Amino acid sequence: MRLINFKISEFLKSDTAAKNNINNIPDFNSLDNILDLIINCMQPIRNLFNLPVIITSGFRCQKLNKIVGGSANSQHLVGCAADFKIKSLTPDKIIQKIKNSNIEYDQLINEYDKWVHISYRKDKNRKQILKIK
Ligand SMILES: [Zn+2]
Repeated sequence: MRLINFKISEFLKSDTAAKNNINNIPDFNSLDNILDLIINCMQPIRNLFNLPVIITSGFRCQKLNKIVGGSANSQHLVGCAADFKIKSLTPDKIIQKIKNSNIEYDQLINEYDKWVHISYRKDKNRKQILKIK
């Protein structure tokens, strides 16, 4: 098994939460989902690209999700999704490479050509690729 160097803190830290005094802490169920996301998606992605992978938004508690304008049933609310960037690569390039790998995911979304949203579920991963403009 390969080394896991992703930290839970990468999925919890949020400038918006800090600015607004929000304690962005997951419940056990969400924590369990974050671990799934790390093991099945984010760590394999970090290993695949071998470049800095930066989570721009991971878990969001209700308060934080509301402030950032996330949808009411966002997968970020339960630790099933993360938005990330990879230095020097466009979202399209990132998605293409993940699509051609054997990495499991529910949705891969190019959001505004700025970052990639990835989600993972314990079952029924849809392997959907979408683009939001
Ligand atoms: Zn997202």
